[in-house]
Amino acid sequence: MITEILSADNLSRGIDALKNGEVVAFPTETVYGLGADATNSEACKKIFEAKGRPADNPLIVHVLDIKELENVLTGQMPKSAQRLVEKFWPGPLTVIVPSNDTIPLLVRGFMPTVAVRSPSHPIARELIQAVGRPLAAPSANRSGRPSPTRAADVWQDLRGRIPYIIDGGNSPVGLESTIVDCSVDPPLLLRPGFIGLQTLESVLGGRVLRPGADAPHKAPGMKYRHYAPRAPVIWINMKEDYHIEQALLQLKEEFPGMALMASRQWQRCVAGPFLQVEDTAQDIAHNLFSGFRELDQAKPDAIVVVWEENDQGVGLAVANRLEKACTKQLTWEGCVRQVTD
Ligand code: AMP
Ligand code: MG
Repeated sequence: MITEILSADNLSRGIDALKNGEVVAFPTETVYGLGADATNSEACKKIFEAKGRPADNPLIVHVLDIKELENVLTGQMPKSAQRLVEKFWPGPLTVIVPSNDTIPLLVRGFMPTVAVRSPSHPIARELIQAVGRPLAAPSANRSGRPSPTRAADVWQDLRGRIPYIIDGGNSPVGLESTIVDCSVDPPLLLRPGFIGLQTLESVLGGRVLRPGADAPHKAPGMKYRHYAPRAPVIWINMKEDYHIEQALLQLKEEFPGMALMASRQWQRCVAGPFLQVEDTAQDIAHNLFSGFRELDQAKPDAIVVVWEENDQGVGLAVANRLEKACTKQLTWEGCVRQVTD
């Protein structure tokens, strides 16, 4: 299959393709999505095939507004979903609600619920509007790879596997949406994202539980290794400079050609590629996936990331993505947590 890159000022071919049951990659404010008509099972099957995505990993359905959420919902709108949607849509927030039959089971991972989000990106909105259907769109990467934040990233992963990529520049957020399961009470934070836990709780005026921490694991598809570049990722999760320096020196012996993503002061500790990031969760969130892909180009022995985790705001999301991407996490006191799978 030939993959064509379409410019954002003429969306008509992308719109026609989607109407005809084809898949099209397009930009959203979080990451690039691989979209298809969410009501068309055959079309959505192509998403799973192109990505190599396991069938038990459901897709997020993209709509324009709360009315379109009501169209795919069964029963009463959960109060939590109503509040969150009123506050954060359009934007990087996905709600899980009980589903009617509009969205096929294949899209929902064969579950009675559906994940729905309203993107704010003008290109994503124009496509949904023009197609006149909700669009199922997971991240437009091969399964297991870092999510794409630029058309070139989609090209790298899916060239020859999909017909069209719409180039709309960089995704401004750079991390996937926050997912809240509103089909249960209290709601569950299934995937941390740009909108932090504290913000969700203040909008809802009550607790949002975290699977693993306060509730059993309940996020399908989250068991797979995710977000990983080709080189092994090693996360130095430490606070003190002298601990970090020691860890970097040890790693350099083991991986002489390692690449490093860290704040400026650590550049002196590597000989290989270096990507400077600020020491804040916001800056790491914005650069993590594109940084993985960029550093990976030089075929380093390892990609090392220096950042001390925190659970404030987008910090929880960065920690979650790093945990899933890394093969090894080094924490203080010389304790090493080896991540298996
Ligand atoms: P992605 O499309 O790659 O951003 O991933 C979507 C994620 O949303 C999946 O991996 C699931 O964890 C979650 N998800 C989607 N649909 C549902 C659902 N019906 N119930 C629970 N989680 C869901
Ligand atoms: Mg994904």
